[in-house]
Amino acid sequence: MAVPKKKVSTSKKKIRNADSNKKIQRVDYIICFNCHMIKLKHHICSQCGYYHNRSRQVDNTNQPIIYK
Ligand SMILES: [Zn+2]
Repeated sequence: MAVPKKKVSTSKKKIRNADSNKKIQRVDYIICFNCHMIKLKHHICSQCGYYHNRSRQVDNTNQPIIYK
């Protein structure tokens, strides 16, 4: 069985994992242009159903209907 040559200190371990911990916690929120509520980036607004200044309502089949 392979054994590490030296013990990795707590400080070195934390430095190595610092970037990956940031990526897990990062969530992209933006403010909706239509209703000014907080929504997920690149997602349809859950409050008003707008995306890119266009109404995109969802029917029962979960397929978006685009009104231009
Ligand atoms: Zn909205």
